Amino acid sequence: VHFKELKLDEKILRAIEQLGYTEPTEVQQRVIPVALQKQDILVKSKTGSGKTASFATPLCELVDWEENKPQALVLTPTRELAVQVQEDITNIGRYKRIKGLALYGKSPFARQKLALKQKTHIVVGTPGRVLDHIEKGTLDVSKMEYLVIDEADEMLNMGFLEQVESIIKLLPKERTTMLFSATLSDVIKKLSSKYMKQAVSIEI
Ligand code: AMP
Repeated sequence: VHFKELKLDEKILRAIEQLGYTEPTEVQQRVIPVALQKQDILVKSKTGSGKTASFATPLCELVDWEENKPQALVLTPTRELAVQVQEDITNIGRYKRIKGLALYGKSPFARQKLALKQKTHIVVGTPGRVLDHIEKGTLDVSKMEYLVIDEADEMLNMGFLEQVESIIKLLPKERTTMLFSATLSDVIKKLSSKYMKQAVSIEI
């Protein structure tokens, strides 16, 4: 299998090639086609499997460059992961000029507020700070069409369940949701059945 078979824009393929990725990993082969169909997905996979690109690639492909309001939200358990995901999005979306922005706590709110006034396609952040921005009106979620919950099990271990649910409830109902987790506990299965529609289940 080659990335060329995944029906991606030439700009995305060129960026992926430049990253040195020749063949999509298993999670990428299975997730990318489903995500491009805008179907909800529940993915069980570990870090190191190439899971970040499995959602970053379809997000970069699907977002409309012209739209000024953010269209995709990626929730991560840690600041480090948020930064890394944002960097991967910037790399994959380079030739489409996709703007990703990372939002996390212990970093000046005012600076993030200012950054959010600029065109941003994809927001990546930790639940507390993302919720803070939504509630203060500095992050407009009215055009959010895509939600990714990354490392959901870690998110719950860190006590973010309530904040994650509060965020989901503020997003448009009409959207595509992807949940990634290394383990699928009952709480995660419940979360996915509560907030996803006919989710495709993928286990790596
Ligand atoms: P992740 O599981 O998303 O943390 O990715 C693990 C590592 O694999 C990262 O360093 C990626 O840059 C790399 N990677 C992701 N996809 C591919 C691919 N298709 N080919 C080679 N390396 C990849």
